[in-house]
Amino acid sequence: MRYTSTRGNENILPSREAVLKGLSPDGGLFMPLDLDFHSFKAEELYQLPYREMAERILSFFFDDFSDIKEVVRQAYENSFDTEEITPVKAVGDHYVLELFHGPTLAFKDVALQLLPRLMAAAAKETGSASDILILTATSGDTGKAAMEGFKDVPGIRILVFYPYGGVSPVQQLQMTTQRGNNVRTCAVRGNFDDAQTGVKQIFETLSETCAAKGTVLSSANSINIGRLVPQIVYYFKAYSDLIRSGRIAAGDPVNFTVPTGNFGDILAGYFARCMGLPVKKLICASNTNNILTDFLTTGVYDRNRPFYKTISPSMDILVSSNLERLLYMLSGNDASYTASLMRDLSEKGRYEVTPELLQKIRETFACGFADDEATKKTIGRVFKENGYLMDPHTAIAWAVSEDFSSSGDPDASLPNIVLSTASPYKFPQAVSDSLRLPLSDSEFELMDAIRASSGVPIPENLAELRTLPVRFTDVITKEEMNDFVLKLIEK
Ligand SMILES: *Cc1c(COP(=O)(O)O)cnc(C)c1O
Repeated sequence: MRYTSTRGNENILPSREAVLKGLSPDGGLFMPLDLDFHSFKAEELYQLPYREMAERILSFFFDDFSDIKEVVRQAYENSFDTEEITPVKAVGDHYVLELFHGPTLAFKDVALQLLPRLMAAAAKETGSASDILILTATSGDTGKAAMEGFKDVPGIRILVFYPYGGVSPVQQLQMTTQRGNNVRTCAVRGNFDDAQTGVKQIFETLSETCAAKGTVLSSANSINIGRLVPQIVYYFKAYSDLIRSGRIAAGDPVNFTVPTGNFGDILAGYFARCMGLPVKKLICASNTNNILTDFLTTGVYDRNRPFYKTISPSMDILVSSNLERLLYMLSGNDASYTASLMRDLSEKGRYEVTPELLQKIRETFACGFADDEATKKTIGRVFKENGYLMDPHTAIAWAVSEDFSSSGDPDASLPNIVLSTASPYKFPQAVSDSLRLPLSDSEFELMDAIRASSGVPIPENLAELRTLPVRFTDVITKEEMNDFVLKLIEK
């Protein structure tokens, strides 16, 4: 399988190089060049357990790796609290696909438990003698999931920058107490964009210096194709669960509703659909930063708009990077068209797709959004009616999915699977507020109150944060980021 960039087909690489590099030098994202999605036999997967599904799907995309089976085994052997990895729960009229059973309680674990092993295997097979340093800027969830995934993986180190005071206390503790001898985190004075721009700038200015010292820089964020592919698996898993429980027969169409930020999770669902999984509609759920709702309605993507801080911070995003892959695929792999849209986005902050392309997108993608008020009401109401406690991101998907069910759309009555992307205990402030519990500044007190009122146990990995020693206390300015990296490499 060869990979190429969404912005130009000159640069052609085997899959392991695409995984190691993460981003194409022309700024585009890697896509499989000669993938015949239709040759995939979806129905052969329905009887398989999670890990075997993962092996089949990963081998389809990454056919130049010699031991995918071992990569999958290492990723999912002990890291999730259930053999099922991503269980499905029937709640009211919906199904909830729980993606938060990994070590950091957010759905990013599903991909970030696997990507590090995939990278290590790729580095070994390309015969590179260099060390790899993963650099990541995070607004909260990605950083912790990446540190946990790369922890003690041989030949790879990871450094995560987060905005000082810009992540929740629980998220900060999750990172500063992280175990492992190859992990490091550091706070940067400024906001998330400062940290992110700093990291991009390090790639531009320090890549060669680092390479000369025997360290290759790479990234673990969601534009890496090695993060996207592992997410396809749980769409198959959810579908096969509904078959097994007799709710559907093999071949019946279903809808998925996905709480969306960077468009990675929902794009994995689109890949599953292309591979023959009977997905009718993918419903894209946003918060008040509803740039995708507008795009999917009008065909205009316009980031010239206010940025809102919401109670679903992992979806507070105005540039949904992975949408580029969808535009590329649905324009018939037209790299120059995709590149022109992305040029418009960087120069004018907006682009508009052709009416034909918009229509194609809308054949599969429906959309909607929920603001903070609606999100909290949904958490409270679903708990009251069904005894099921959701985090704010999941609640957005639930609310949008209900709107879709009553929309009069011809597909509105199909079985609907809502993706649940985080444990409610990751966002104690918003969840306790939704349940109308007393206010507190201590997130641990709020967790206790949520447990007392809901009966849902506090995940061990969050409970232990109260007593774990803090290992990393660095706070630097963005001007000091370069030096921080250079010092780390000298060691
Ligand atoms: C990252 C994240 C999302 C958004 O996923 P994308 O792949 O960026 O669309 C939703 N919910 C939670 C809890 C997340 O951490």
